[in-house]
Amino acid sequence: MDTLKEPLQQQKMTQTGDIWVWKNYENQEFCVKNVKLAPSQNLDINSSPNNYCWNNWATGKSAAFVWRVIDEKIPSAVALRNRGMNVHDVTCKICGADDETAVHILLKCNLAKRIWEAVSTWTRIPTVNSVSSITELLQMILEGQRSRTVRKMLHAIAIETMWILWKNRNDEVFTGRHRAAQTIIEDIKVTTFLGVKIRSKHSTITKQEWWDFNLNM
Ligand SMILES: [Zn+2]
Repeated sequence: MDTLKEPLQQQKMTQTGDIWVWKNYENQEFCVKNVKLAPSQNLDINSSPNNYCWNNWATGKSAAFVWRVIDEKIPSAVALRNRGMNVHDVTCKICGADDETAVHILLKCNLAKRIWEAVSTWTRIPTVNSVSSITELLQMILEGQRSRTVRKMLHAIAIETMWILWKNRNDEVFTGRHRAAQTIIEDIKVTTFLGVKIRSKHSTITKQEWWDFNLNM
């Protein structure tokens, strides 16, 4: 009651009519423009932008997933512990060799390395084991010596590969289901083949051409 009385007693009554106001703009009558301005004032213009390139030949889910990966916003064991969750063991459940971060699951884990090796052999991109981050990997693909169309396909394959690796990790962690590397690679080929056929204008690509990655474009 005292806490309520105090601000009420300080309030001076005037003859002017009541108006709606928006916080930080108390001397102006409410307008939508000030609401819009409020969040933009909290933006840190010095933070480096996430220059993620959206690829509409990959599924929306996988593209959005990789966008979150770049800012380390996926719930890996280390990320959950950093957010204050009580995770007693942050070791990777697949290889047990290192802490489970996003870059570990999708790039550095033994399983991820095997999958990327198979993807580079299949698509004839340079081996990705030398790159240290997901951003670097995507950049390498986008700046490679291939035609624009093939680079976009490779970029979609990379996005889908990471999404499939993440789904596989969730299966292992939550249901204990183990999939062989060969099954995962087949899954990547099938998913990306259907994705490119449905979403790009290159719907005439045959399964054989995709499996051999023998594309004249
Ligand atoms: Zn691992």
